[in-house]
Amino acid sequence: MNRSIRISWLAALVAAPLAAPGLAADKLPNVVVLATGGTIAGAAGSDVQAAYTSGQVGVEQLLAAVPQAKKLASLRGEQISNIGSQDMNDEVWLKLARRVNELAAQADVDGIVITHGTDTIEETGYFLNLVVKTKKPVVLTAAMRPSTALSADGPLNFFNAVGVAANKDAAGRGVLVVVNDWIHGASSLTKANTTAVQTFLSPLRGLVGTVNYGECEFYRGPVGRNTLDSEFSLDGVTALPRVDIVMAHANMDGALVDAAAAAGAKGVIVAGVGNGNMTRAALDALAAQAKKGVVCVRSTRVASGRVGRNVEVDDDKLSLVASDDLNPQKARVLLRLALLKPRSLADIQKLFVEY
Ligand code: ASP
Repeated sequence: MNRSIRISWLAALVAAPLAAPGLAADKLPNVVVLATGGTIAGAAGSDVQAAYTSGQVGVEQLLAAVPQAKKLASLRGEQISNIGSQDMNDEVWLKLARRVNELAAQADVDGIVITHGTDTIEETGYFLNLVVKTKKPVVLTAAMRPSTALSADGPLNFFNAVGVAANKDAAGRGVLVVVNDWIHGASSLTKANTTAVQTFLSPLRGLVGTVNYGECEFYRGPVGRNTLDSEFSLDGVTALPRVDIVMAHANMDGALVDAAAAAGAKGVIVAGVGNGNMTRAALDALAAQAKKGVVCVRSTRVASGRVGRNVEVDDDKLSLVASDDLNPQKARVLLRLALLKPRSLADIQKLFVEY
């Protein structure tokens, strides 16, 4: 649907100067904006209605709607996709990762901002964190409210993301996600609320920094191997192996674990209860699939916390992998990349600790 957008924040356009005082526009860092869709590019019929459609606003409109960002960087945009991130898929991931690598290799690109939906931003961010090969800032951003909403959060999130991508101190910190004034490491953040603007948390690893109207404060680097330090590469990769996630619950049987394997999954992540636990029946099914060569990982449906090896489950005996502090959706990203080549279970377990 290509409706004509009434962007409430477009209406508030002010005559922003093109460069910060004393800084010529041609001295500003060059930041490329790759747009993929999401609520940040979403539109509703009115500024106070909950129903809306993601991915309605193109990258040029996004850039035009935040002219203040041109004070921070010289910007140009490319449209990679325009979808709600609930529809994020391997085709877009591969295209996006390749484009980031191409752009990052160019001397006249200083940083990259990616606009994305909030639903799967943690997965895309973590995927890029593992496969892009650059120290230059790669910063994802998003919004919880569509561009047409009263108090839309997209413009300031975008402005802040540009501020981070244009900041030399953001380099070498892995792929970052900037939403609601917080700078998260892609490996650590998770969406924690369905509608609130303050939805993203980095529950175990903490924030990489904060950003206030484009002014950055960095606390630390990201935890876990990433970007140039990552062994994963998309060279020659045209498809990623199937890995499914099965949610554990009371009275669970092994049917969905078996169904995943029957559907062709090379790996199964169980979003376990507590410390990666599940019923005896589910565990039996999982161990049986592990014996047949499906890589089976115990993660957790709990919002935060590590899943350790051999706590209540004998991983050594059942040939299972513990997800350490990766939630199920991030465990799935890592396992898909890990399965691009043959590896022992011990090697895969090591990846979960290192990344
Ligand atoms: N469903 C939307 C998306 O992920 C939600 C958002 O962006 O906030 O694209």
